[in-house]
Amino acid sequence: MKAYDALVIGGGPAGSTAALYLSRSGCSVLLVEQLAHGGQLLQTESLENYPGYPKGIKGYELADLFAAHLENLPIDCISAAVESVNGSAGNFIIQAGHQEYAAKVVLVCSGAKHRQLGLKKEDALLGKGVSYCALCDGNFFRGQIVAVVGGGNAAMEESLYLAKIVEKVHLIHRRDSFRGLKIYQDRLEAMKDKIELHLNSVVTDLHGEDMLTGLRLQNIKSGEGQDIEVSGLFIYVGFSPVTGYLPESLQRDSQGFIVTDTEMRTNLPGIFAAGDIRSKLCRQVITAAGDGATAAQAAFLFLEQLNA
Ligand SMILES: Cc1cc2nc3c(=O)[nH]c(=O)nc-3n(C[C@H](O)[C@H](O)[C@H](O)COP(=O)(O)OP(=O)(O)OC[C@H]3O[C@@H](n4cnc5c(N)ncnc54)[C@H](O)[C@@H]3O)c2cc1C
Repeated sequence: MKAYDALVIGGGPAGSTAALYLSRSGCSVLLVEQLAHGGQLLQTESLENYPGYPKGIKGYELADLFAAHLENLPIDCISAAVESVNGSAGNFIIQAGHQEYAAKVVLVCSGAKHRQLGLKKEDALLGKGVSYCALCDGNFFRGQIVAVVGGGNAAMEESLYLAKIVEKVHLIHRRDSFRGLKIYQDRLEAMKDKIELHLNSVVTDLHGEDMLTGLRLQNIKSGEGQDIEVSGLFIYVGFSPVTGYLPESLQRDSQGFIVTDTEMRTNLPGIFAAGDIRSKLCRQVITAAGDGATAAQAAFLFLEQLNA
């Protein structure tokens, strides 16, 4: 079994930064990523709030830059999903892709995944009109009518992106105002000929058998219902942390996010958590990267004590 000082789970902004800092501190590092390096960056059309890029940067471009930075360092990277983490500080055993790896410390950076609306046909119509990633799937709906559900930055950002390629976007939000940035709200206002807002509204049903053909909307104030024809539905109603493979004794908050102190230490010695998976106020690329750097430094100091 191959043994490392540190095993980093997830190759998004948090995990990439943690691996970078740990490697530069002289630790042996294994980075395990189940999909592609970049995490949610690969679902982001463009970032306008990452310092250093005043004109913005495409999500995939920033992901490539993060990955290129790691290439210059002696970090082992494998493509696999971590299935379990057992053991204790100094001797963790991690199962990933039917292999076992040993590590003295573990940095959990597996981020968050989209929440579902919980509609009856949501799973059946996934990939047949229902999507959680406008950047990945938007192009399939070029010139068509689509709907977006959600009231935060992601829903507004992705509606604006889709409006550039589709005929019309219905943006559906269950509250009477958006909770995202004012800059996006102003842009929605400027695009109102292409983006129709449905406030105080929820989707109650999806129409279509093999492909999505429309949806049923209900106004939660008036109780009125209406059917609208759409061939695409993009759902942005929040994220849940990816923690299913972790020990149950790892402390989580009421929404399942991992609780850490300011140095990214969890309640289990030797396990650190960074990025969107953590219980915190602001889930962004810069905070994920910042968490990754702090977690790496805390893990490095922990390793020094362990080896003393
Ligand atoms: C549509 C959209 C738009 C956004 N726009 C912006 C923006 O404009 N500006 C901004 O700053 N932020 C934006 N964000 C948020 C930002 O992308 C996230 O805050 C950031 O990516 C979190 O980084 P992370 O490393 O914590 O997690 P993630 O990016 O979620 O990365 C986690 C990684 O862990 C991997 N993983 C999960 N489970 C396992 C496992 N068991 N084994 C191995 N690997 C695993 C995943 O495949 C993933 O690659 C946006 C997000 C979305 C979805």
